[in-house]
Amino acid sequence: MKIEKVKIFRNSTNKTTEVERKVIEELNKNDFKLVQENYDLAISIGGDGTFLKMVNETNFKEVLYYVGINTGNLGFLQELTTDDYEKFIQDLANNILIEDTKSLEEIIVTTKYKTISYFALNEVVIRNKNLKALETDIKIDNVLLEEFVGDGILISTNVGSTAYNMSLGGSIIDKEIQALSLTPIAPLKNARYHNLDNSIILSSKRVIELIPTSPNLILTFDGKNEEIENVIKIEVKLSNRKIKCLTTQNNNFIKTIHNKIIG
Ligand code: NAP
Repeated sequence: MKIEKVKIFRNSTNKTTEVERKVIEELNKNDFKLVQENYDLAISIGGDGTFLKMVNETNFKEVLYYVGINTGNLGFLQELTTDDYEKFIQDLANNILIEDTKSLEEIIVTTKYKTISYFALNEVVIRNKNLKALETDIKIDNVLLEEFVGDGILISTNVGSTAYNMSLGGSIIDKEIQALSLTPIAPLKNARYHNLDNSIILSSKRVIELIPTSPNLILTFDGKNEEIENVIKIEVKLSNRKIKCLTTQNNNFIKTIHNKIIG
Protein backbone atom coordinates (compact mmCIF):
# COMPACT_ATOMS: atom_id res chain seq x y z
CA MET A 1 0.00 0.00 0.00
CA LYS A 2 1.24 3.46 -0.83
CA ILE A 3 0.20 6.15 1.64
CA GLU A 4 1.59 9.67 1.40
CA LYS A 5 -1.30 12.04 2.07
CA VAL A 6 -3.41 12.01 5.21
CA LYS A 7 -6.54 13.83 6.34
CA ILE A 8 -7.64 14.00 9.98
CA PHE A 9 -11.31 13.91 11.01
CA ARG A 10 -11.94 14.74 14.66
CA ASN A 11 -14.49 15.50 17.30
CA SER A 12 -14.21 18.63 19.42
CA THR A 13 -13.09 17.40 22.85
CA ASN A 14 -10.00 18.80 24.60
CA LYS A 15 -8.50 15.32 24.73
CA THR A 16 -8.82 15.03 20.93
CA THR A 17 -7.14 18.44 20.44
CA GLU A 18 -4.17 17.27 22.52
CA VAL A 19 -3.91 13.89 20.74
CA GLU A 20 -4.31 15.50 17.31
CA ARG A 21 -1.33 17.79 18.00
CA LYS A 22 0.89 14.79 18.82
CA VAL A 23 -0.38 12.77 15.84
CA ILE A 24 0.41 15.67 13.47
CA GLU A 25 3.92 15.95 14.97
CA GLU A 26 4.51 12.21 14.43
CA LEU A 27 3.09 12.29 10.88
CA ASN A 28 5.37 15.24 10.00
CA LYS A 29 8.37 13.44 11.51
CA ASN A 30 7.67 10.49 9.19
CA ASP A 31 7.22 12.69 6.08
CA PHE A 32 3.47 12.20 5.63
CA LYS A 33 1.64 15.18 4.13
CA LEU A 34 -1.47 16.55 5.84
CA VAL A 35 -4.02 17.57 3.23
CA GLN A 36 -7.75 18.31 2.91
CA GLU A 37 -8.30 16.79 -0.56
CA ASN A 38 -6.98 13.78 -2.48
CA TYR A 39 -5.75 11.92 0.59
CA ASP A 40 -4.86 8.21 0.78
CA LEU A 41 -5.54 7.71 4.49
CA ALA A 42 -8.36 9.13 6.63
CA ILE A 43 -7.67 9.16 10.38
CA SER A 44 -10.48 9.80 12.84
CA ILE A 45 -9.68 11.01 16.35
CA GLY A 46 -12.61 10.71 18.77
CA GLY A 47 -15.14 7.98 19.59
CA ASP A 48 -16.84 5.42 17.35
CA GLY A 49 -19.31 8.14 16.34
CA THR A 50 -16.38 10.11 14.85
CA PHE A 51 -15.31 7.05 12.84
CA LEU A 52 -18.86 6.54 11.54
CA LYS A 53 -19.11 10.23 10.60
CA MET A 54 -15.77 10.05 8.77
CA VAL A 55 -16.70 7.04 6.61
CA ASN A 56 -20.05 8.62 5.91
CA GLU A 57 -18.59 12.03 4.97
CA THR A 58 -16.05 10.39 2.68
CA ASN A 59 -18.84 8.35 1.10
CA PHE A 60 -17.39 4.93 2.07
CA LYS A 61 -14.64 5.35 -0.54
CA GLU A 62 -13.08 2.04 -1.56
CA VAL A 63 -9.79 3.61 -2.67
CA LEU A 64 -9.13 5.11 0.78
CA TYR A 65 -7.64 3.58 3.89
CA TYR A 66 -9.29 4.32 7.23
CA VAL A 67 -8.09 4.15 10.83
CA GLY A 68 -9.30 5.56 14.14
CA ILE A 69 -7.60 6.73 17.32
CA ASN A 70 -9.88 6.43 20.32
CA THR A 71 -10.35 9.41 22.60
CA GLY A 72 -14.00 8.48 23.32
CA ASN A 73 -15.52 5.91 25.66
CA LEU A 74 -15.60 2.57 23.93
CA GLY A 75 -13.64 2.75 20.70
CA PHE A 76 -14.77 -0.46 19.06
CA LEU A 77 -14.24 0.99 15.60
CA GLN A 78 -11.44 3.27 16.77
CA GLU A 79 -8.82 0.55 16.94
CA LEU A 80 -5.86 2.56 18.19
CA THR A 81 -5.50 3.83 21.71
CA THR A 82 -3.70 7.07 22.59
CA ASP A 83 -0.74 4.84 23.55
CA ASP A 84 -0.28 3.12 20.20
CA TYR A 85 -0.57 5.82 17.53
CA GLU A 86 3.20 6.49 17.57
CA LYS A 87 4.03 2.87 16.76
CA PHE A 88 1.18 2.82 14.24
CA ILE A 89 2.64 5.79 12.32
CA GLN A 90 6.09 4.20 12.34
CA ASP A 91 4.59 0.90 11.10
CA LEU A 92 2.76 2.91 8.45
CA ALA A 93 6.06 4.46 7.34
CA ASN A 94 7.62 0.98 7.28
CA ASN A 95 4.63 -0.37 5.37
CA ILE A 96 4.01 -3.30 7.73
CA LEU A 97 0.36 -2.69 8.62
CA ILE A 98 -2.39 -5.15 7.81
CA GLU A 99 -5.38 -4.32 5.62
CA ASP A 100 -8.70 -5.21 7.22
CA THR A 101 -11.78 -4.88 5.03
CA LYS A 102 -15.17 -4.17 6.55
CA SER A 103 -18.42 -5.02 4.81
CA LEU A 104 -21.17 -2.48 4.28
CA GLU A 105 -24.85 -3.04 3.92
CA GLU A 106 -26.83 -1.47 1.12
CA ILE A 107 -30.32 -0.18 1.76
CA ILE A 108 -32.43 0.41 -1.33
CA VAL A 109 -35.57 2.41 -0.65
CA THR A 110 -38.30 2.47 -3.28
CA THR A 111 -40.84 5.27 -2.88
CA LYS A 112 -43.79 6.19 -5.06
CA TYR A 113 -41.50 8.62 -6.91
CA LYS A 114 -37.93 7.30 -6.85
CA THR A 115 -35.47 4.64 -5.74
CA ILE A 116 -32.67 5.74 -3.41
CA SER A 117 -29.65 3.71 -2.33
CA TYR A 118 -27.90 4.18 1.04
CA PHE A 119 -24.93 2.47 2.69
CA ALA A 120 -24.30 1.76 6.36
CA LEU A 121 -21.33 0.33 8.24
CA ASN A 122 -23.16 -0.47 11.50
CA GLU A 123 -26.87 -0.73 10.79
CA VAL A 124 -30.12 0.68 9.56
CA VAL A 125 -33.05 1.13 11.94
CA ILE A 126 -36.53 1.33 10.43
CA ARG A 127 -39.36 2.99 12.36
CA ASN A 128 -42.70 4.56 11.70
CA LYS A 129 -42.43 8.34 11.19
CA ASN A 130 -44.91 9.24 13.92
CA LEU A 131 -43.31 6.69 16.25
CA LYS A 132 -46.46 4.58 16.27
CA ALA A 133 -45.97 0.84 15.89
CA LEU A 134 -44.32 -0.16 12.63
CA GLU A 135 -46.39 -2.64 10.66
CA THR A 136 -44.49 -4.31 7.89
CA ASP A 137 -44.28 -7.57 6.01
CA ILE A 138 -40.76 -8.95 6.14
CA LYS A 139 -39.68 -11.16 3.27
CA ILE A 140 -36.37 -12.97 2.88
CA ASP A 141 -35.46 -13.81 -0.71
CA ASN A 142 -39.06 -13.04 -1.60
CA VAL A 143 -40.49 -15.51 0.93
CA LEU A 144 -42.67 -14.15 3.75
CA LEU A 145 -40.98 -14.44 7.14
CA GLU A 146 -43.48 -12.53 9.27
CA GLU A 147 -46.03 -9.76 9.39
CA PHE A 148 -44.13 -7.65 11.91
CA VAL A 149 -45.73 -5.24 14.36
CA GLY A 150 -43.55 -3.49 16.92
CA ASP A 151 -41.40 -0.42 17.52
CA GLY A 152 -39.09 -1.12 14.62
CA ILE A 153 -36.58 -3.34 12.86
CA LEU A 154 -32.80 -3.08 13.02
CA ILE A 155 -30.60 -4.70 10.38
CA SER A 156 -26.97 -4.80 11.36
CA THR A 157 -23.69 -5.86 9.73
CA ASN A 158 -21.09 -7.90 11.62
CA VAL A 159 -19.35 -4.58 12.47
CA GLY A 160 -22.56 -3.11 13.91
CA SER A 161 -23.44 -6.29 15.81
CA THR A 162 -21.62 -4.97 18.91
CA ALA A 163 -23.47 -1.63 18.81
CA TYR A 164 -27.24 -0.96 19.00
CA ASN A 165 -27.92 -4.55 17.88
CA MET A 166 -26.29 -5.87 21.04
CA SER A 167 -28.30 -3.52 23.27
CA LEU A 168 -31.43 -5.05 21.76
CA GLY A 169 -30.27 -8.56 22.68
CA GLY A 170 -28.86 -9.37 19.23
CA SER A 171 -25.82 -11.63 19.01
CA ILE A 172 -22.27 -10.52 18.31
CA ILE A 173 -21.23 -11.72 14.86
CA ASP A 174 -17.64 -12.89 14.43
CA LYS A 175 -15.78 -10.48 12.16
CA GLU A 176 -14.85 -13.44 9.94
CA ILE A 177 -18.54 -14.11 9.18
CA GLN A 178 -20.15 -12.04 6.45
CA ALA A 179 -23.75 -11.82 7.58
CA LEU A 180 -26.66 -9.56 8.45
CA SER A 181 -28.59 -9.62 11.71
CA LEU A 182 -32.30 -8.87 11.52
CA THR A 183 -33.26 -7.75 15.01
CA PRO A 184 -36.75 -6.80 16.19
CA ILE A 185 -37.28 -3.74 18.41
CA ALA A 186 -40.06 -4.37 20.95
CA PRO A 187 -42.12 -6.80 18.84
CA LEU A 188 -45.78 -7.08 19.83
CA LYS A 189 -46.64 -10.40 21.45
CA ASN A 190 -50.24 -11.27 22.16
CA ALA A 191 -53.02 -13.52 20.91
CA ARG A 192 -53.28 -11.46 17.73
CA TYR A 193 -49.66 -10.78 16.85
CA HIS A 194 -47.03 -13.47 16.62
CA ASN A 195 -43.60 -11.98 16.11
CA LEU A 196 -40.12 -13.34 16.51
CA ASP A 197 -38.41 -12.19 19.69
CA ASN A 198 -34.91 -13.09 18.58
CA SER A 199 -32.69 -11.79 15.88
CA ILE A 200 -32.02 -13.90 12.83
CA ILE A 201 -28.51 -14.07 11.41
CA LEU A 202 -28.75 -14.24 7.65
CA SER A 203 -26.15 -15.30 5.12
CA SER A 204 -24.43 -12.72 2.92
CA LYS A 205 -26.46 -13.90 -0.08
CA ARG A 206 -29.87 -13.14 1.42
CA VAL A 207 -31.99 -10.14 0.51
CA ILE A 208 -34.28 -8.74 3.21
CA GLU A 209 -37.37 -6.90 2.01
CA LEU A 210 -39.73 -4.80 4.12
CA ILE A 211 -43.12 -3.79 2.77
CA PRO A 212 -44.58 -1.34 5.31
CA THR A 213 -48.30 -0.71 5.76
CA SER A 214 -47.71 2.96 6.57
CA PRO A 215 -45.55 4.66 3.91
CA ASN A 216 -43.99 7.40 6.06
CA LEU A 217 -40.93 6.20 7.93
CA ILE A 218 -37.82 7.25 9.81
CA LEU A 219 -34.73 5.38 8.73
CA THR A 220 -31.59 5.74 10.86
CA PHE A 221 -28.33 4.95 9.06
CA ASP A 222 -25.41 4.59 11.52
CA GLY A 223 -27.12 7.05 13.87
CA LYS A 224 -28.20 9.52 11.18
CA ASN A 225 -31.97 10.01 10.86
CA GLU A 226 -33.73 10.43 7.57
CA GLU A 227 -37.49 10.90 7.18
CA ILE A 228 -38.68 9.19 4.04
CA GLU A 229 -42.25 9.44 2.78
CA ASN A 230 -44.28 7.37 0.34
CA VAL A 231 -42.19 4.26 0.88
CA ILE A 232 -43.31 1.19 -1.03
CA LYS A 233 -40.50 -1.17 -0.06
CA ILE A 234 -37.03 -1.34 1.50
CA GLU A 235 -34.43 -3.89 0.42
CA VAL A 236 -31.38 -4.57 2.56
CA LYS A 237 -28.42 -6.72 1.52
CA LEU A 238 -24.70 -6.98 2.07
CA SER A 239 -22.97 -4.83 -0.47
CA ASN A 240 -20.03 -5.80 -2.65
CA ARG A 241 -18.62 -2.43 -1.66
CA LYS A 242 -16.25 -2.61 1.34
CA ILE A 243 -14.05 -0.16 3.18
CA LYS A 244 -10.37 -0.79 3.83
CA CYS A 245 -9.12 -0.21 7.36
CA LEU A 246 -5.58 -0.44 8.63
CA THR A 247 -4.80 -2.52 11.65
CA THR A 248 -1.76 -3.65 13.62
CA GLN A 249 -0.47 -7.20 14.01
CA ASN A 250 -1.74 -7.30 17.62
CA ASN A 251 -5.40 -6.84 16.85
CA ASN A 252 -7.55 -9.80 17.91
CA PHE A 253 -11.35 -9.91 17.74
CA ILE A 254 -11.87 -12.06 20.85
CA LYS A 255 -9.44 -9.91 22.86
CA THR A 256 -11.36 -6.80 21.75
CA ILE A 257 -14.67 -8.28 22.96
CA HIS A 258 -13.07 -9.29 26.24
CA ASN A 259 -11.50 -5.89 26.83
CA LYS A 260 -14.22 -3.61 25.51
CA ILE A 261 -17.42 -5.44 26.40
CA ILE A 262 -16.68 -7.72 29.31
CA GLY A 263 -14.15 -5.27 30.70
P1 NAP B 1 -23.10 7.58 19.46
O1 NAP B 1 -23.22 8.38 20.69
O2 NAP B 1 -22.15 8.02 18.40
O3 NAP B 1 -22.79 6.06 19.83
C1 NAP B 1 -23.49 5.39 20.86
C2 NAP B 1 -22.59 4.32 21.45
O4 NAP B 1 -22.40 3.24 20.50
C3 NAP B 1 -21.18 4.83 21.83
O5 NAP B 1 -20.82 4.30 23.07
C4 NAP B 1 -20.32 4.28 20.70
O6 NAP B 1 -18.95 4.12 21.10
C5 NAP B 1 -20.98 2.94 20.45
N1 NAP B 1 -20.72 2.31 19.13
C6 NAP B 1 -20.86 2.84 17.89
N2 NAP B 1 -20.52 1.93 16.95
C7 NAP B 1 -20.15 0.80 17.62
C8 NAP B 1 -19.72 -0.49 17.19
N3 NAP B 1 -19.62 -0.83 15.90
N4 NAP B 1 -19.47 -1.42 18.16
C9 NAP B 1 -19.60 -1.12 19.46
N5 NAP B 1 -20.01 0.09 19.92
C10 NAP B 1 -20.29 1.04 19.01
O7 NAP B 1 -24.59 7.43 18.86
P2 NAP B 1 -25.28 7.84 17.48
O8 NAP B 1 -24.53 8.91 16.79
O9 NAP B 1 -26.73 8.00 17.79
O10 NAP B 1 -25.17 6.51 16.58
C11 NAP B 1 -23.96 5.90 16.26
C12 NAP B 1 -24.09 4.43 16.58
O11 NAP B 1 -24.40 4.31 17.96
C13 NAP B 1 -25.22 3.73 15.85
O12 NAP B 1 -24.75 3.19 14.64
C14 NAP B 1 -25.69 2.69 16.84
O13 NAP B 1 -25.18 1.40 16.60
C15 NAP B 1 -25.17 3.15 18.18
N6 NAP B 1 -26.33 3.40 19.07
C16 NAP B 1 -26.54 2.54 20.09
C17 NAP B 1 -27.67 2.68 20.89
C18 NAP B 1 -27.89 1.70 21.98
O14 NAP B 1 -27.03 0.85 22.19
N7 NAP B 1 -29.00 1.75 22.67
C19 NAP B 1 -28.58 3.71 20.66
C20 NAP B 1 -28.32 4.59 19.60
C21 NAP B 1 -27.18 4.42 18.80
P3 NAP B 1 -17.99 5.38 21.48
O15 NAP B 1 -18.27 5.63 22.91
O16 NAP B 1 -16.61 4.91 21.21
O17 NAP B 1 -18.41 6.52 20.58
